[in-house]
Amino acid sequence: MRIVAKLLEDFSEDWHWVELENPQEIDPDERVFKIDSAETLCGILLSGPTRTRLHDTGAPAQPDCPSCLQIVKPLSAELIQDISEALGD
Ligand SMILES: [Zn+2]
Repeated sequence: MRIVAKLLEDFSEDWHWVELENPQEIDPDERVFKIDSAETLCGILLSGPTRTRLHDTGAPAQPDCPSCLQIVKPLSAELIQDISEALGD
């Protein structure tokens, strides 16, 4: 599950792509998840299993972390190409 979020306060002010491993929502109101682990695409790793509160209220559609954006854009282009090829375009 990949979301745009501030996973922890010490991720600073940037929104990151956060990849959650095996997330289970514990408290929907507080956005608390139990996760095996989580990692931002720019390489911030939160080891687990642990509980974490996601800060994704008001999250933009895209992160504003430059590193996350740089990593995602080429991947997205490749993915689109893969999908096009798979469809026979
Ligand atoms: Zn990032």
